Amino acid sequence: MMPRIEINLETCDKEGLCVQVCWEFVFEQADQDSFPVVAHPEKCIFCGHCIAVCPSGAITIHEMDMANFGQHTAEMDIEAGRLLDFLRMRRSVRNYKNELCPGNWWRSWSKPRAMRPQGETPRA
Ligand code: SF4
Repeated sequence: MMPRIEINLETCDKEGLCVQVCWEFVFEQADQDSFPVVAHPEKCIFCGHCIAVCPSGAITIHEMDMANFGQHTAEMDIEAGRLLDFLRMRRSVRNYKNELCPGNWWRSWSKPRAMRPQGETPRA
């Protein structure tokens, strides 16, 4: 699928973070005074890093759910103990059952994995 990647030139500050974090080299920017351009949309793997790092929210990928890239609010804060409990659960012993998971259950639990930080440093 060819993604429709859009850079809003009204809000883009030309910081080029999208160029730095995209490890598929989708964006190109001639110099710091130029807007980044979507040079190779066919290479996009829908990781969402460009959207997440853009400080001005200038990037839209129409095939992605942009609601996943909203701003953090105080209501989203997680109490430290609950976060630790969650991380402990991920390390727990798996008690597998010989039955199928209902509906899209696995999809909702695998969603955070798709949004995790990659641990890669931006390219210089
Ligand atoms: S979603 Fe990922 S692969 Fe696609 S343009 Fe953005 S950073 Fe590059």
